[in-house]
Amino acid sequence: MALAGYPLGISVQAVDVADNKIVDPVTKQVINNSLNRLIEEVDTITVEFEHIPEDLLELVHGSGKLKPSVEAILTGADRVREKKLLEKLAIDNCPFEIITEVEQLDAAVEKLGEKLIIKASRDGYDGYGQWRLQNKSQLPELKEKLSQLDLHKIPLVVEKMLNFDRELSLVAVRSSNGDIAYYPLAENLHYQGQLHVSIAPAPQVDEALNQQAKTIFNKLAESLDYVGVLSVEFFQIGQQLLVNEIAPRVHNSGHWTMQGADTCQFENHLRAVRGLPLGSTKVTSPTAMINIIGCKAFSRDMLSIPGCHLHWYGKTPRKKRKMGHFNLCADNYSELGKTMQALAEYLP
Ligand code: ADP
Ligand code: MG
Repeated sequence: MALAGYPLGISVQAVDVADNKIVDPVTKQVINNSLNRLIEEVDTITVEFEHIPEDLLELVHGSGKLKPSVEAILTGADRVREKKLLEKLAIDNCPFEIITEVEQLDAAVEKLGEKLIIKASRDGYDGYGQWRLQNKSQLPELKEKLSQLDLHKIPLVVEKMLNFDRELSLVAVRSSNGDIAYYPLAENLHYQGQLHVSIAPAPQVDEALNQQAKTIFNKLAESLDYVGVLSVEFFQIGQQLLVNEIAPRVHNSGHWTMQGADTCQFENHLRAVRGLPLGSTKVTSPTAMINIIGCKAFSRDMLSIPGCHLHWYGKTPRKKRKMGHFNLCADNYSELGKTMQALAEYLP
């Protein structure tokens, strides 16, 4: 976001929510300033992830400079709130039960079947904070694990494990005057609950499916009076879209826009929260976004592949951590497939 802001003359500073230190997002140098003074100095405050301590969120909300709103951020951060909003707006989603006692799992199995995904209602991401039940025989072991948690503090959302056809997401941006610019749907491939690959535009999307996604986005964005980039994850079953979850921020499945669209999601988010006109979301080429996960170092030889772009985040390596991504661009899907194969040759 800082890199996207620079050419617009927008300077971005970051707050590390782990210790409230103020950091230059590019150099990662700590900036000697107090949080209160920073809040006073800046024009706008926004978020790049939703798991923000509530006292910090309240403090920032009090400044009147926060976009999207505190309500939108809290909704994205809490699966119970999210499910309630989906129900209120009559938006199709995955059948679920909310539980605050481990014993309620039996009733959930009776209702939803024995194949379940159990999700902590807060602080989960990339498949963390999730447990899977494949059959009833695993129930005692799972209950034992879940009994370690304080479910009154953080309830569980128990979902039926769906056998969907594929996962799609819609990343779009809304300005404070209600203008909306949509990127095309992306098709997303997950492994162990974590996004590995996005292809955009998703192949084989007809107008009806597109319209369905946009209608759902509009309902959500309008009900939250949303400003900025909002992302909606879907499961596709036949011609029907079910909402999996929403993210009140730029999204990993929108990283392809850095090369594949006229204006990237980061710039459009900044434009929206700063009250600037939204940028064109026109696709410039079919793009595959490939996450680089958990790896320390590698050669850069794959940059010889035409259309291969690397974005390395410079983060400390950890197992399963997203360290960077490739964007692969090509003239058409067939060429894109070849480019993906060429990249695979370089990967361990
Ligand atoms: P996270 O916040 O970690 O992204 P999600 O709820 O999106 O959590 O779950 C991560 C992934 O797990 C999804 O993208 C999907 O691949 C799989 N998943 C989640 N819920 C279900 C479900 N009810 N049925 C089948 N797969 C699911
Ligand atoms: Mg998700």
